[in-house]
Amino acid sequence: MEKLAIEGGVPVREHPLNYGRQYIDEHDIQAVAETLKSDYLTCGPRITALEQRLCQITGAKYCVAVSNGTAALHLAALAAGVGPGDEVITTPITFAASANCALYCGARPVFADINPETYNIDPASIKAHITPRTKAVVAVDFTGQAAELDAIRDICEKHGLTLIEDAAHSIGTKYKGRPVGSLADMTTFSFHPVKTVTAGEGGAVTTDSRKLYEKLVLTHSHGITRDPRQMAHPTDDPWYNEQTDLGYNYRMTEIQAALLDSQLDKLERFSRRRREIVALYDEAFSHIPQLQVQREIPESDTTRHLYILRFHREQMNCDRRQFFDALHGEGIHSQVHYLPVYWHSYYEKLGYRKGLCPNAEKYYTESMSLPLYYSLTDEDVRDVIRAVTKIVERYRKGG
Ligand SMILES: *Cc1c(COP(=O)(O)O)cnc(C)c1O
Repeated sequence: MEKLAIEGGVPVREHPLNYGRQYIDEHDIQAVAETLKSDYLTCGPRITALEQRLCQITGAKYCVAVSNGTAALHLAALAAGVGPGDEVITTPITFAASANCALYCGARPVFADINPETYNIDPASIKAHITPRTKAVVAVDFTGQAAELDAIRDICEKHGLTLIEDAAHSIGTKYKGRPVGSLADMTTFSFHPVKTVTAGEGGAVTTDSRKLYEKLVLTHSHGITRDPRQMAHPTDDPWYNEQTDLGYNYRMTEIQAALLDSQLDKLERFSRRRREIVALYDEAFSHIPQLQVQREIPESDTTRHLYILRFHREQMNCDRRQFFDALHGEGIHSQVHYLPVYWHSYYEKLGYRKGLCPNAEKYYTESMSLPLYYSLTDEDVRDVIRAVTKIVERYRKGG
């Protein structure tokens, strides 16, 4: 059993706070239990209903539900026609899957630097990395804040690139009043338990393009079709289906769809509470000169998935590890989002070297994620703020 951190004889917290946590209620449990008693465990009516609902929420014309967010990215890259010899530009401050999807297709991920204040991919850096081999851009809505989509879309249109928006963090976010999911050529979602709504594991791709949609549908289920219009050898044999492309089994189950549908009933509540918590943190930390509060672009109306605590290294007598450990000592189990993707040893083996994206690398050494989830209470938030304030007082230069 973990011992409580004791500071000056005062126990700090009885239960440690993690950076994220799912919220499951009786309604969710009922929805799953009913599905288990129904006729379909996969490929049934709940998937169809879920896809329609995600279209409604995002304003997209088409949606394909898939097994997870990584599968969604892989399918989107395939549908974009990404293949061997191509390059795909993305940010290093993301989960590795945003870049791995290019590798799955035999293409090379190219890393553009981040904006040092918003932490999202910098459109100017995207532009600087375009070559004749560039095929697509994967723009991540990091922490839930929409990337600078107008600028990025302009660059993509000008250079004939497909824009894939990785919205794993940003369901519930709007950009210029329009929901994420209808703003890029394709938008991918993840419903992993740390995300704002969960299916246990799950993902989706939305698009307004009929052509991309048909490709996504085909490849998410083996490349096999029952649609005679898509077949090379259509027949009226009732059993006949035909594999016309190389696809995968990336289908979502009915059980996952039922859970997600029930979670989506709570999306607005989840979003509201996350915004309240972000406002409390921002209010407290904007008064502390050693801390940097993430800048929000006015176009983004953000449902935040992560709250990034960043300190100015030059103004403190500690490094990130010491700050992180001190938080842990206060019962706050932070996490770091993310190691720059090309720092992973696999990418090192592929030839990527440190120094590619200075803003991203500096961000990485000064940042960690604070607890942010629906069931976090105001008292929890006050505890986190107290702990952070105390640590800054302890380590600030000239303090
Ligand atoms: C979680 C996440 C993914 C991958 O989603 P999974 O459902 O876990 O496969 C991709 N991109 C980003 C930015 C993520 O946070």
